[in-house]
Amino acid sequence: MIHILVSACLIGQNCKWDGKNNRDQKLLDFMERTKGIAEFHPVCPEEMGGLPTPRPAAEIRKEDEIVINREDRNVTAEFLLGADMALRTAKKYGCEIAILKERSPSCGKNGIYDGTFTHTLVPGMGKTAALLSGYGIRVVGESEIAELEKEMLDFSDARE
Ligand code: SF4
Repeated sequence: MIHILVSACLIGQNCKWDGKNNRDQKLLDFMERTKGIAEFHPVCPEEMGGLPTPRPAAEIRKEDEIVINREDRNVTAEFLLGADMALRTAKKYGCEIAILKERSPSCGKNGIYDGTFTHTLVPGMGKTAALLSGYGIRVVGESEIAELEKEMLDFSDARE
């Protein structure tokens, strides 16, 4: 069994900053197709770090890596705690892969917003994605699920 950490908002949990979700049908279909070879463990690092839902949107300031929310409050500590809690969950279940929401200041992988709240993307990772990556967990964005599925099914066929 392959254990996979997953951003809870991608599977439809209303944990996004605005109280909504980022339900991704491609991910849900992938979860259905990989039943029996993969087990999924949902996490929302921002909630795990103690932030309420809904909450003001936050971004990582490019110049100093501080996480600042729209009300100009420094929420770096909550983001780092959430990242740590997500890592603990990954370790608890032996997750080698994490499918995380792209562009999020927690979960984003291939680019995040620059802290100016102007929808400006810059290279970088969210706090949780970076921590998990640093511990050797493969972080996959929701746009990369097809590639991951192909690899998993090839791997599964090779073992039969
Ligand atoms: Fe989704 Fe991650 Fe943001 Fe939680 S912290 S709402 S799981 S992107």
